[in-house]
Amino acid sequence: MPKKVKFENLLFKSESFWDKVNQKEKAAAFEFSEDYKKFLNRVKTEKQVVTETIKLANQQGFKEVNLDEDLNLKNKKLIFNNRGKSAIFIHLGENNLEQGAKVLLAHVDAPRLDLKVKPLYEDSGIAYFKPHYYGGIKKYHWPAIPLELHGTLILKNKQHIEISLGSKKDEPIFLISDLLPHLEQERMDKPLKKAIDAEELNIIVGSIPLTDKKIKNRVKLAVLDWLNKNYQIKEVDLFTADLHFVPHFEARDIGFDRSMLGAYGHDDRVCVYTCLQAFLESQNNQQTKILYLADKEEIGSVGATSAQSLFLENILDYLIKHTHSSLSLYDLFRKSQAISADVTAAFDPDYKSAYDVHNSAHLGHGLVLEKYLGYRGKMMTVDAEPKFIRQLINLFDQRKVIWQTGHLGKVDQL
Ligand code: MN
Repeated sequence: MPKKVKFENLLFKSESFWDKVNQKEKAAAFEFSEDYKKFLNRVKTEKQVVTETIKLANQQGFKEVNLDEDLNLKNKKLIFNNRGKSAIFIHLGENNLEQGAKVLLAHVDAPRLDLKVKPLYEDSGIAYFKPHYYGGIKKYHWPAIPLELHGTLILKNKQHIEISLGSKKDEPIFLISDLLPHLEQERMDKPLKKAIDAEELNIIVGSIPLTDKKIKNRVKLAVLDWLNKNYQIKEVDLFTADLHFVPHFEARDIGFDRSMLGAYGHDDRVCVYTCLQAFLESQNNQQTKILYLADKEEIGSVGATSAQSLFLENILDYLIKHTHSSLSLYDLFRKSQAISADVTAAFDPDYKSAYDVHNSAHLGHGLVLEKYLGYRGKMMTVDAEPKFIRQLINLFDQRKVIWQTGHLGKVDQL
């Protein structure tokens, strides 16, 4: 006689976190989120994320390593800092690199407004910075919201200037104007995509002119004068700058039950924060662990601080040499496993038509394992191996991790 099957055990279903956990576990989730909110409020740019994560790792005994210096083999907890914008944390295992590594990866950058190469100008008595937006923004999100300014520039004498304005209550904020409803008829008839032009997203930075009426561009010059008095900046220095405007919003609880969290930069600092916590708390020190916090994901992972740079290869090559490993770089990659962490979209009942409800992740149903992404006919996708997926879900089930799967919207929506 064949064994009787419980039919409901045959189904693949995800359950809500709130239904599955006890009071103590709920309280732990809220407590964890308090620290996450504080983290989000401290970090508004990729550089600030890198600085903050290094600080947290330092507290657990991780130390920065200079690739031009010898490695102290007694120290197993290493940090490699790439221009202050991306960082790789490595906890060497008992046999250093010989068994390969377990790699976690998340990105530190978020959509924002960068500046054009000659950003400062005045028009009709108002001084502006002209931005070039970074990453996939929706332009209508940006007018009429408070903006903070953060960034770095280098003076002629090579001095680094750090600017951070707008996050504290007594500091000014910045603004992109919006058209008042009474004058908007022409714009209202345009499709959403064309309603706001990128060249209209200009940031108001001042409006008081210099007193000498003979001078041209008195408002622009007054702004330059302020920048010079406060930071020794001349106009050409703005060309060296990494200056970013980001929304001035504090991370806050959402809903009567405080069950959700709203903030700028969740994507992908939620993975940065959770991966870092997991990495620092992991007690299994047998195999080498790597946490890669990469920059420039929002623009296609290109450039010297991105995941496509050779920074990881550079570090592994250094470690192979200094730990006298028998492995080649290629052997090391072959023996290693990696999870790329990022945010996905949960099913939104307000926009049902964008989702395939049977293949969507759901709010509150735990972390999402995405086997593959890609667009149209799975173009550009990285398809995870069946063996690796099985290994992960067995591990999660064994450790009672609440997980689900899902796709980022319908096919052909991307
Ligand atoms: Mn992302």
